Amino acid sequence: IDKDGKRRRFLLKLSGEAFAGGGGLGVDPDVVHKVAREIASVVREGAEIAVVIGGGNFFRGAELQLRGMDRARSDYMGMLGTVMNCLALQDFLEKEGIDSRVQTAITMGQVAEPYIPLRAVRHLEKGRVVIFGAGMGMPYFSTDTTAAQRALEIDAEALLLGKNGVDGVYDADPATNPSAVKFDALEYGEVITRDLKVADATAVTLCRDNKLPILVFGLLTEGNIDRAVKGEKIGTLVSS
Ligand code: UDP
Repeated sequence: IDKDGKRRRFLLKLSGEAFAGGGGLGVDPDVVHKVAREIASVVREGAEIAVVIGGGNFFRGAELQLRGMDRARSDYMGMLGTVMNCLALQDFLEKEGIDSRVQTAITMGQVAEPYIPLRAVRHLEKGRVVIFGAGMGMPYFSTDTTAAQRALEIDAEALLLGKNGVDGVYDADPATNPSAVKFDALEYGEVITRDLKVADATAVTLCRDNKLPILVFGLLTEGNIDRAVKGEKIGTLVSS
């Protein structure tokens, strides 16, 4: 809650890969439960949280394309994968006693509402978590870009990018280069010109053009969602 007593609104992007746990594929309920507990805790404290989840634990269109599949069709498979992650998160949020709604960019009335921005905002105002599934509903986009677009459309104050395996943005891949150095803060332009792996370029330019701050942080470190919402110095902050 900010100084004027207004509830603060954030868009939390969760990496699909993180949902797989150690398995690499599918959903590890223990991981989803842990993430749901942390989201529930910040919602109870008064934050408004909308979520976009990736689908890397099921399919990535670009990877299927390398193996001979049509890109657009495999991107649709990727988008459908994200919806399974959304349903898993919704289930664990419910177990925590937090109301949520899944809204998908590809309509599937039996499992989710369609994406209706004004309704999403109403849900948030009522203290519900809104989980956006199926990306933008369009091939050739990513869930990072979806997260930036949804954050802008619902007027979130920041994009919180929860990563799997890294705790911020580095000048080299920390997994292969032990001397890689983490940035505490970066400007959008640096991310783009140095081709730093924050999110894809479409997502970063969208944030830059609309001055939406991005906090890149390690999703699976206990308490990090809370720290991100409270603006503690974790991860890497990308702004102008
Ligand atoms: N995707 C898409 N359009 C979108 C969002 C996602 O085509 O608007 C597809 C794309 O194939 C992508 C896959 O869904 O590879 C899974 O999303 P992403 O790779 O962003 O997931 P993450 O890496 O964040 O888990």
